[in-house]
Amino acid sequence: LQIPNITLNDGRGIPQLGLGVFKVEPGETERLVSEALEAGYRHIDTASYYRNEAEVGRAIAASGIDRDEIFVTTKLWNTDQPRPREAFDESLDRLGLDRVDLFLIHWPQPERGEALGAWRSLIEIAESGRATSIGVSNFEIEHLQQLIDETGVVPAVDQIELHPLHQRRELADFCRAQDIAVEAWGPLSQGKSDLLERPEIVAAAEAHGKTPAQVVLRWHVQQQRIVFPKTSRRERLLENAAIFDFALSDAELAAIDALDEQRGFGPDPRAFNDR
Ligand code: NAD
Repeated sequence: LQIPNITLNDGRGIPQLGLGVFKVEPGETERLVSEALEAGYRHIDTASYYRNEAEVGRAIAASGIDRDEIFVTTKLWNTDQPRPREAFDESLDRLGLDRVDLFLIHWPQPERGEALGAWRSLIEIAESGRATSIGVSNFEIEHLQQLIDETGVVPAVDQIELHPLHQRRELADFCRAQDIAVEAWGPLSQGKSDLLERPEIVAAAEAHGKTPAQVVLRWHVQQQRIVFPKTSRRERLLENAAIFDFALSDAELAAIDALDEQRGFGPDPRAFNDR
């Protein structure tokens, strides 16, 4: 597989496409991650909340692939915001690694007011070298702005729900201006919509001899976004990665841009407090 790197604002590279393992059962995770690594994936997105870090780590260890060639992301869960260092150590233990490539605050929980303190701890963790890069997830503009204003450290990424039905233009523009890379979660709208049957997407798929999922993923990567579509099927691992050998035209991109309904399927980041 030929997967390009995106350069983060700290100078580090991240493979633009990876595998996300949200809702992959622990019992299935090791097989799936092993298959993905065998297929050429080199970027795995997990979280302590997914309860499969240990299985991700086992697949990495069993692969025999040089640790430096695999990009591993994990995340600080909401209830751990008051204890980021301990939670980070626990994640490393479960993964069986001595560092991760990217560590994220999973949700801003603005009503709790704990994210800024957690961010200060992530900065220290990055300084210790045990997280090569640090960032956030589900942060809106005001949440990003607070971290930047208070610490001067700009997150390397914001991992947000983003797909053609929910394009987050204002937030994406802010991220571009601040050099924060956007990671699109739910890049295919999590199978919760008719996105892959929309005529604009089907037409582009037919024109390029690709599948609708490949067209949507290509739309993301042509805008420099990072994606890690989830699948538990081997043939789809290959399908989802085969998006670097064609290009959507400006007209095809514009037709997909026009599908924005500002309709997300996940929780509202301003209100989500899972505890
Ligand atoms: P997704 O958009 O990747 O959708 C996954 C679903 O799409 C699969 O279950 C499958 O039904 C379908 N699919 C996958 N490949 C397909 C193909 N080629 N053709 C047709 N259908 C296909 O949604 P997701 O899994 O929620 O998001 C991807 C990753 O993002 C997650 O695994 C996780 O790592 C991350 N994520 C992060 C957050 C967060 O709060 N930070 C939230 C959700 C997901």
